[in-house]
Amino acid sequence: MKITMLGTGAALPDPERGQSAILISTDSGRHYLLDCGEGATRQMVRANINPADVGVVLLTHLHHDHISDFPYFVISSWMLNRTDAPLVLGPRGTKRFVGHLFEDGAFHADFLARSSLQARKDNIAAVRPEVREMSPGLVYEDGDIRITANHVEHLPHHICECFGVRLELEGKVLAFSGDTSPCDAMIELARDADLLIHECTFPESILAHRARNGTGHHGHTSPVELGLIAKQSNAKSVVATHFGHFDTTSPVLRRAASRHLPADLTGPHLMDEVVADIRKNYQGPLRLAHDLMRIDL
Ligand SMILES: [Zn+2]
Repeated sequence: MKITMLGTGAALPDPERGQSAILISTDSGRHYLLDCGEGATRQMVRANINPADVGVVLLTHLHHDHISDFPYFVISSWMLNRTDAPLVLGPRGTKRFVGHLFEDGAFHADFLARSSLQARKDNIAAVRPEVREMSPGLVYEDGDIRITANHVEHLPHHICECFGVRLELEGKVLAFSGDTSPCDAMIELARDADLLIHECTFPESILAHRARNGTGHHGHTSPVELGLIAKQSNAKSVVATHFGHFDTTSPVLRRAASRHLPADLTGPHLMDEVVADIRKNYQGPLRLAHDLMRIDL
């Protein structure tokens, strides 16, 4: 399989990183999208994948940095001649989110305009996604893949359930954390995985700064914690992702986010701190994700 890290940033607009999105492409030619944050659709095209060929989209939770590209993905796939309805898996609330987007939703005028064209009438199923809200356990299976999901710890569940996932395909196991603080459920999802793709939103020095200033909700995993999760789950390799802009060199971001990410602490050099801290507990294969990073597994 080929795994493409379409977006590896977090919630802010970042010139170097799109928002959360990972594309899994099987050797048989199927494509599965995990999260659909800003930039996901355009990045697919850059990675030589037609968005209309992506059959299944799994949304780990409904924070905007995991779903904001979804309307663009659906409408552009419709325009690119997708013939079937995409299948969307997500937490409770996904039906509401998707139901408010297209016909009679935010893009109703666009829907009316395009569906007046015969070509778009012919593939109107493409803009009517099928939504399945997930419960912990097996959430999807086809001839190529089995996906199981469980609750992870990021947001209070009454606001939004957040899921981590375990994918079994081509005799390999891949786990993805979504967004979470360390939790036993994620360790189990990643048990003996060939590859664990795990969020690592802030390094320890930024977390210490945020704790001193009382800024920001945490609900994420630090590098030291990620190393421990990798060790406890016995993951065979690790990709850290969902970096919270602490490595940015953008003057706009540095100024605008200066309370959370003071310019004297932030910069690309922090990636060395991230690796050193993950390494305190985990010594196996480790990579730091960047946009369009390709992993062959
Ligand atoms: Zn996020």
